[in-house]
This record gives sequence, structure tokens and C-alpha cells, in this order.
Amino acid sequence: MKIAGEPSFRDSVDLMFNRATALMDLSPGLQQKIQVCNSTYTVRFGVRLRGKIETFTGYRSVHSEHMEPVKGGIRYALSVNQDEVEALAALMTYKCALVETPFGGSKGGLCIDPRAWEENELEQITRRFAYELIKRDLIHPAQNVPAPDMGTGAREMAWIADQYARMNTSDINGKACVTGKPPHAGGIQGRVEATGRGVQYAIHEFFRHEDDKALAKLSGGVEGKRVIVQGLGNVGYHAAKFLSEEDGAVITAVIEHDGAIINDKGVAIEELRQWITKTGSVKGFSGGEYVIDGAAVLEKDCDILIPAAMEGVINLTNAARISCKLLVEAANGPVTYGADEILRKKGVIIIPDMYANAGGVTVSYFEWVKNLSHIRFGRMQRRAEESRHILLVNELEKLSADKGLGWTMSPNFKDKYLKGAGELELVRSGLDDTMRSAYQAMREVWHGRNDVEDLRVAAYIVSISRVAAAYQSKGL
Ligand code: GLU
Repeated sequence: MKIAGEPSFRDSVDLMFNRATALMDLSPGLQQKIQVCNSTYTVRFGVRLRGKIETFTGYRSVHSEHMEPVKGGIRYALSVNQDEVEALAALMTYKCALVETPFGGSKGGLCIDPRAWEENELEQITRRFAYELIKRDLIHPAQNVPAPDMGTGAREMAWIADQYARMNTSDINGKACVTGKPPHAGGIQGRVEATGRGVQYAIHEFFRHEDDKALAKLSGGVEGKRVIVQGLGNVGYHAAKFLSEEDGAVITAVIEHDGAIINDKGVAIEELRQWITKTGSVKGFSGGEYVIDGAAVLEKDCDILIPAAMEGVINLTNAARISCKLLVEAANGPVTYGADEILRKKGVIIIPDMYANAGGVTVSYFEWVKNLSHIRFGRMQRRAEESRHILLVNELEKLSADKGLGWTMSPNFKDKYLKGAGELELVRSGLDDTMRSAYQAMREVWHGRNDVEDLRVAAYIVSISRVAAAYQSKGL
């Protein structure tokens, strides 16, 4: 989306990159090598649908191959264009480096309104697009591994994996050619919730640091904090659901493409999601006040604002009126370069996209590893872990009985402690650990240097240093 008077999305990412590199000691040559997008493949293909040939345009952009495979989702939207996929591919490079997933950055997109087509038509279109990318190794377990993004999900990823299997019948690692597959088709537990879960873990980590909270003029925990979420798609829905149902945050407004629902006592996220699934709209939902002007609701006072929809939604036209303390970029690029400057001056703390929404690619990494190892996480150790716990609990109970100590364990404790971790628990634990470590790496730069004023620049510095180190060890 190009906003009048503002740089394009790609240029906005480059300007943010430049703010960081101005504070780094990189050779101009290396800086340029990291910044440029290595290649963008454009494909136009025809599919016979409804009695005539429809032509579609798709892209797969590879930003950096300092590590392979390269990684990044495939987006289905009418607004997809080369500038956008290149910006998103660049963000994938920095995101993967920041959360230490061993991938370069890539992104794909297809100009299509997915709602305009029936499921079987979408399958034909997806398979044809995948065919074009697979035959050029732009989908490949060792070279380029897509995942879901806006407008796509597990269903599309299963079609892509199957298309790859048909074209590479003897590739034993074929399932690792794409992530975000449904669990029955080689996926992993917890991938669907992963990006939203990562947003929750990012907020938890932020709230663990008193001085960071103080900078945002926040205190206490997440409980009771007033949160506004823009976009109730996969990411926004899971983030809002976990923050409200598990952490006690109050979702005071949800903004969607056709208006917003406001409820100062808290919007019931699960009910609203079901309403949207049923009616296709937030309009008519009884659990809050409906407002048609969603853009105005973005400016409503709150503690935490979570844009989880699209790039460029906070820009020069509205940044000055944004009234939150903490802004968590669950979408990619929701704040333009100019808006970022205005928000910083206002004292809004921004948790940047490349960190806040990295939960998706983190769990994609776990799925890719699972596919390559051909075994579910926890399968070997779960019962061994349980047996050792049982041994310990039995021993304690025996000691208590022998010595007449009368110790009893609460049944709740026993249930929880005796249960070995299954795949979902392990995925969440790995994700939580990743989000904590990445935040701490950013934070060290943010507070450790006098010239770094915000988390975004800190995130870029951490990522770019890691990418630079990878290039240097390749001899560049
Ligand atoms: N599309 C998601 C993102 O922007 C996930 C990418 C992936 O899992 O490879 O981060």
C-alpha cells in the first residue's frame, strides 16, 4: 500500500535499516550487500476456471541467502505487488536473524482475492502457483521454504506440500518444503496459534522489565491493561484471546475492515470471532458498540495498541493522534517511517514487528526440524520423563509414610508434575525461550548504548550484526 507523501513500504524498511547502520561500523559494501534484495521472480500463469482462462500474477522474492533455506510466507491479497514482497522479504531476513532461526529471508505473494474463489478453485490456483515455484527451486526443503501469511493458512500449505511430493516423488525430506501444514499432513502442534502466542510472550517479557515499563509509563502486570487490537485474523485473534482469557487484559476495542466493536468492559474475543465467521462482519455483534469508522478507533486511548492487520496503517495522517503507551507490531510494517518518528517523539514505546511477530517463523523452524528428523518432538523422552517424576513422588510419599511425617501432595501438583511434556508443551516452551532471549538481545543494545533510543533500531543492530557475521564467514 503506497501512502501519499510517504516512502513506499520497501523504502520505509530501507530508511529504518539506514537509521541502524548509521550507528554501526560496517563497510559501505557489506552494508549495501545486506540491504539489497537478491532477486524477485515474477510469474504470470493461467488457470482454466469457470469456463475461461484466468491469468494470475505471483511473486517470490529472496532478500538474503546468507543462510539457506530462505524462509517467509506466501500472501494472497489483491494489494500484493513487488515493492511489498520485497519489503516483507527484507523483514524476514532481519526477523530470522533476531530470533536465531537459521534461515535467510524470502516472501511470496499472489494478486488474488481469496474470497472470490471456491475451495476447489483455490486449490487449482495454489497448485499451479506452487508448480511454477517448485520447478525453479523457489519451493524446496533446502533452499526456499514458504509458510502461511495474510490470506493463506494450513490448507494452502498442505496443497503446496502435496504438489511438491507429486513433483519430487523420492525426496525423503519433501515435507520440509513448506511449513504451517496441518498436523495430519506433517505440521506441528501450536503452529496456528504461534504468531499470536509469540505476541503474548513478547508482551510478557516486556512486562518483566520494570525500567522498560516505566519508559512506557506503565506499571504492574498485563492484568487489567486496556488493549486495542486491529485485525481479528489468525494473529490478532490469538493474541487478543490469550491476553484476555489467560492474562486478564481488557480488550476495549477490536477494529476490522468494516468497522469496530468497542466495549470498555472487554470484548469477548471468542464470541466475536465466531460472529465474524458466521456473518463475515463485526456489524451486528451484540457484545459491544458498533462503530463504522474503524480508523478513528485506532486513535482511542489505551495502554497497549496491537495493529495485527496490514502495513502502513499508522502513518503521517494519524500518528500524531495515536494515544497508546505501548505499541506492539503484530503485523509486518504497520507503522511507516515517518509515523515511527512522530510516535517516538510522543514517547510511545514500540515493540517492533521483526520481534513481535516472530513467533510464526520460530514455530515454522520447529516444524522444519521435525520434518527433517522424521519424528514428533517428545516421542522419545516423554514417558522416560514421567517415570522419573513418578519415582521421585513415590519416594517422597514413602519417606513421609516411613517417618510418619503425614506429607500429602495436592492432587493438582501431582497431575501437573507427573505429566511429561508433549509436542505442544515443547513448542510453547521453545517459543517462550526464543522470545525471551531475542528481547534480551535487543534490550542489551537499547540500554547498553547511549546512541540507541528505541527497540526498533536495537533490533536492526542485533540482526544486521548477525547477518554481517554470516557474510563475513562466507568470505564476503
Ligand atoms: N508469514 C509469517 C511471517 O511474516 C511466517 C513466516 C514463516 O513461518 O516462514 O513471519
